[in-house]
Amino acid sequence: MTVKITVNVAGCVGHARCAAVAPDVYELDDDGFNTTAYREAEESLRAQAVRGMRACPEKIITIEDEENR
Ligand code: SF4
Repeated sequence: MTVKITVNVAGCVGHARCAAVAPDVYELDDDGFNTTAYREAEESLRAQAVRGMRACPEKIITIEDEENR
C-alpha cells in the first residue's frame, strides 16, 4: 500500500505549513510553494502526510482514504 497524495497546486499560496509539519512528504520550491501535484508515499509516512494535509489552510491537499477535517 502507498499513500496517494494530490495537491491542487494552482491553489497553493506558499504558507509552507504542509512541509513544516511533514518535511518528509511535502517538498516546496525556493519560494515556498508546493509544486508536486501528485505523489505516492510509503505507508510509513501516512500519519505525517495526513498531518500536513490538515495543516494546509487552503485545503488543497487530498489523500485517498483520509478525511480532511
Ligand atoms: S500549506 Fe497548503 S498552501 Fe501552504 S505551501 Fe503547503 S500546500 Fe501550499
